[in-house]
Amino acid sequence: MLRKRKLLFFPRACWRWSPDHRRLAADLVTLETTSRLLIDTIADERGLILVLTGAGISLASGIPTFRGSDEGAVWTRDVTELGTYRYFQHDPAGSWQWYRQRFLTALRAKPNAAHFALAALEQWHVDRGGEFLLVTQNIDTLHEQAGSVELAKVHGSADRARCSKARCPLGSISTLAVADLDFAAFEREPRSETIPRCPECHSLMRPHVLWFDELYTSHLDYRWSRVLEACEGMRLVLAVGTSFSVGVTDLVRREANRRGAQLFIIDPSAPSDLAVPEAVHVREKAEELLPMAVETLRSTGRSQGKTR
Ligand SMILES: [Zn+2]
Repeated sequence: MLRKRKLLFFPRACWRWSPDHRRLAADLVTLETTSRLLIDTIADERGLILVLTGAGISLASGIPTFRGSDEGAVWTRDVTELGTYRYFQHDPAGSWQWYRQRFLTALRAKPNAAHFALAALEQWHVDRGGEFLLVTQNIDTLHEQAGSVELAKVHGSADRARCSKARCPLGSISTLAVADLDFAAFEREPRSETIPRCPECHSLMRPHVLWFDELYTSHLDYRWSRVLEACEGMRLVLAVGTSFSVGVTDLVRREANRRGAQLFIIDPSAPSDLAVPEAVHVREKAEELLPMAVETLRSTGRSQGKTR
């Protein structure tokens, strides 16, 4: 009877189970079926794994989401006005004030178990010869702090600033650390004259974030060409704490469909399977599921290594 249940839970890969897979299955009898399928699929996939993260993964680190229905969500209707290059041109001091307040929360936060687990998953997958790319829409620095290496921060980074002139090398190619800029005068008297200036061309510095009226290709640091390249080769997509409503998520979803890559959505509050019907929805907290998943994969991998 138990054997029948296992086969039911692992229909995709049952014909090529190794003894380690059977042991893994026995260890996972208390898990939800979708979680078991997620772990089994990762274990089987030796190609490019693309992980897509959004604000949901940073909630457990105390960073409120900037859109959505979570309690404390701070993106209200005015964000589409404030989060634009147009607004920066109109009121650069107001723009910097708004972002500096927002950055403080993001930069004080610490990675949670989900961030560390994704870094460990990358290490584990690369160690067995796989390719990995983490694409995040978050501007906090939690993935870097947790140890992720192959990372594309397509919406920029709260700890960086750049020149507001796109033709300047510091405007489209490189960035500066916010910590290296002197905001003392601006903090005392927030106006455009006290905003730090570009050391190359003396234009105003701006936050290194993707604004609503800008393109992913507007700065090299967003690594957009790497994202496009990865979309061509990805075999498995894990979406953590993100909806599928904006640019990069829509692109990854379409490309996953077109190329037959399996898509898993890890989100305890995913509203409906109908929103992304082709995906497997794992309704678990990422900070609880991912560490367990990685630990399971690691222990299975060690067992496989001994038999070789
Ligand atoms: Zn400049």
